Amino acid sequence: MNATTVLIVLISMVGVTASAQPLNGAADELTVHFIDVGQGDCIYITTPYISDASNPQKRGIRILIDGGDGRRGDTFALRYLSRLGLRPADTIDYVIATHPDGDHIGGLLAIYDRYHVTNTLYAGFVNTTATYDSFIKLARDDSRLWYGLKSGEETLGEYLPLGDEVEARILNAESKPIGKKSNNSSIVLRLAYRSISFLLMGDAQGPVEEKLIAKFGSALRSTVIKLGHHGSSTDGTSGAEFLGLVRPQFAVISAGCMYGHPNVATGNRLWNQRVNVVRTDCEDGTVETPGDDNIVMTTNGTQLEIRQFSIRD
Ligand SMILES: [Zn+2]
Repeated sequence: MNATTVLIVLISMVGVTASAQPLNGAADELTVHFIDVGQGDCIYITTPYISDASNPQKRGIRILIDGGDGRRGDTFALRYLSRLGLRPADTIDYVIATHPDGDHIGGLLAIYDRYHVTNTLYAGFVNTTATYDSFIKLARDDSRLWYGLKSGEETLGEYLPLGDEVEARILNAESKPIGKKSNNSSIVLRLAYRSISFLLMGDAQGPVEEKLIAKFGSALRSTVIKLGHHGSSTDGTSGAEFLGLVRPQFAVISAGCMYGHPNVATGNRLWNQRVNVVRTDCEDGTVETPGDDNIVMTTNGTQLEIRQFSIRD
């Protein structure tokens, strides 16, 4: 463990009546919420902020990565954000759609309906579904749509502008991915605040990991990894070499007890490398209740606090 990194881990179940306030980070904290949307991904991030008259709302930059499944209307992402205190027409500064699978962009449609989205970042991979068409239309009409690194259209570049202290680097975003697979188009983001870092893999699989190993090597090292493709092992996802370079202390699995996610081989590799696992799904592999296993990670840049709680009514 890095000498400057002191980890405090609190795993607890907080009931539905718990105040939402502690879930919103303090001025010097980065907060990453892995929202339990069942089978799918949905990550909400708030950055540290300046707490003076220049920032009357006393808030950091808000980023939503994927929205889980679902279309218009009530979704677990909406319920969760409401619980945090977001009101209709509040601003989300960045929506990042990692790739166009339904369990990632489906729930974003309701996000555009309810909130004001300033920027949308997208890898540029074209899909042929009605959900995709709706997503692109909403992203264009309701926000400024930015493409990933290489689509030839307007891009944000390699780093998201999240202030002086938080580095957010886009490691992968492919409009024409390896094997023409949607999963491998995924936006992969590495978020670092002082000595704590998060590697958020979307649904990127083994071929992307190989590319990242060649390009970034030991710079992939991160305190926390959100495993690619819901903890699957298909196409070499979460390979031993890749995990050996990332050297995470915690691995988050966002899944919903479907499609065999997470794969037992992934679990074995994590066990072999002594990685602590935190999951949004049912740990006994049978019954999943979305909303039950949200994970909140809060850090001041040196300490990391992890909480897990339910928003079930
Ligand atoms: Zn997925």
